[in-house]
Amino acid sequence: MTGPLLRFHILTLFPEMFQSPLGQSILKRAIDRGLVQIKLHNLRDFTHDRHSTVDDAPYGGGAGMVLMPGPVFEGVESIKNGIEAEKGAQAAAETPVILMDPQGRLFNQEVAGELSQRQELILVCGHYEGVDERVRLYLATHELSIGDYVLTGGELPAMVVVDAVARLVPGVLHNMEAARDDSFSESLLQHPQYTRPAAFRGWPVPEVLLSGNHGEIAAWRRRQALLRTRERRPDLLARAPLTEEERRALGSGGPESAS
Ligand code: SAM
Repeated sequence: MTGPLLRFHILTLFPEMFQSPLGQSILKRAIDRGLVQIKLHNLRDFTHDRHSTVDDAPYGGGAGMVLMPGPVFEGVESIKNGIEAEKGAQAAAETPVILMDPQGRLFNQEVAGELSQRQELILVCGHYEGVDERVRLYLATHELSIGDYVLTGGELPAMVVVDAVARLVPGVLHNMEAARDDSFSESLLQHPQYTRPAAFRGWPVPEVLLSGNHGEIAAWRRRQALLRTRERRPDLLARAPLTEEERRALGSGGPESAS
């Protein structure tokens, strides 16, 4: 049997945190079907003292503790040795080492798309006051933030990255078109979605969606996606692949609302 299309290695102090989220829904199916594999590596396995110490006080003083570089470097090196043994030195050298970090590049759908092309990814979860700067300087190839707020550890951010990236791996979603249509995939927000009943508490589904006319439905959805994006996230529009006509219409106040 061939290996998975994409293997995530997660270096963490709390491997148990990943069990439940990865054991549900689409991710579970992707793992069961061998499309995606997730290997959890406990940082404490790369310590050498009786107490499995991973952190220490910051030089210069200050609150909190900092993850020491030793266990993180050894953990990543051990993962890379495994990749090298299986796939060769080049594959190991080219594997991204991603430090989860609120100071990193903002994770978005475009980054998820890029990462979904890889075969191996190493995600490093920080904790406490963060990790020793030498991890950032000499080990990490990428630093990713999931947003401008500070979480307790890199575990939740890593789960976010795993989920967003895994669903772009071919075969993970039943219908890849669903992902192409998702918000952000073409720098647009998705059109509104409705399901049964056609009228709920007096609020009807837009007539066009019940018409069975696929051309009109597609045109309505496109118009709605453009309107929503202009209303809620105008910053996305500059990068959206719009036709000349669409760009003109948006610029001149159109396309008109069609709810
Ligand atoms: N003291 C650090 C700072 O101010 O930049 C924050 C440390 S945070 C409490 C501990 C760890 O949680 C970080 O090393 C990182 O791995 C993770 N983390 C917290 N917020 C994050 C975010 N928004 N995106 C990615 N990782 C985050």
